[in-house]
Amino acid sequence: MATLDGLPPLRDVIQRHGLDARKALGQNFLLDLNLTQKIARTAGPLEGVTVFEVGPGPGGLTRAILSLGARKVIAIERDARCLPALAEISEHYPDRLEVIEGDALKTDFEALAPEGPVRIIANLPYNVGTQLLVNWLLPKAWPPFWQSLTLMFQKEVGARIVADENDDAYGRLGVLCGWRTTSQMVFDVPPQAFTPPPKVTSTIVHLLPKATPLPCDAEKLEKVTQAAFGQRRKMLRQSLKPLGGETLLLKAGIDPARRAETLSVEEFVALANHL
Ligand code: SAM
Repeated sequence: MATLDGLPPLRDVIQRHGLDARKALGQNFLLDLNLTQKIARTAGPLEGVTVFEVGPGPGGLTRAILSLGARKVIAIERDARCLPALAEISEHYPDRLEVIEGDALKTDFEALAPEGPVRIIANLPYNVGTQLLVNWLLPKAWPPFWQSLTLMFQKEVGARIVADENDDAYGRLGVLCGWRTTSQMVFDVPPQAFTPPPKVTSTIVHLLPKATPLPCDAEKLEKVTQAAFGQRRKMLRQSLKPLGGETLLLKAGIDPARRAETLSVEEFVALANHL
């Protein structure tokens, strides 16, 4: 039975190409094309847009992105077993899908980015996703080459990304994301939506770059957040001792008796700028 996009159901694709999910590659596939369309729609309008998709697997999300009118998808997939299935999608949408076999963590996305608007959409193993997110947030030049990031995470990681000061989940990731982006958790995806189901609930996080984030050196921001949240229960005069402790805090106008989780992103930026 054909699906709405005229390609075979994903269950058949997986069976025909022997794509049994491998745990080591964090493979939990989405087979419901209504759900993958919902995720792709979260990214915003796709007409005329080039989408980087990381980890397309058998192509459920890829198909959704293409069916919603993306000009082109550049997909990076580590598992060579998926390439024949992706080639079928490429044939169905001539000249609109380019698949690169490789490790997304070693891919220079900026160098691959064409002229025109670029969005990034991915359903990835969460540890790879977190590292990629950090990489996408750290380029020297800002605004970055991408217009939006729409990424699947474990819900607990999503909460860390969108956290503000005084939230339990607030930490280095929240400060980094809050510095350069606005972010929101858009909707949850339950374990049973995946094949095989993971242990925990996932969530879709959507991030937009701030046009003019506060000027700050990313490495210095990393340094202060690492030291401050490395000992998050301690007062900052103690946890920031190696970086100047009380003197640094007073220069930045921050009470040395406060704890890391109470500092706003702006206050962390002030600390980094006084390092
Ligand atoms: N996007 C598909 C979907 O939604 O059904 C597959 C999602 S599955 C959670 C993660 C995919 O990322 C797998 O296809 C896996 O092979 C791929 N992957 C894992 N690590 C990767 C990496 N470092 N670089 C590129 N792809 C990777």
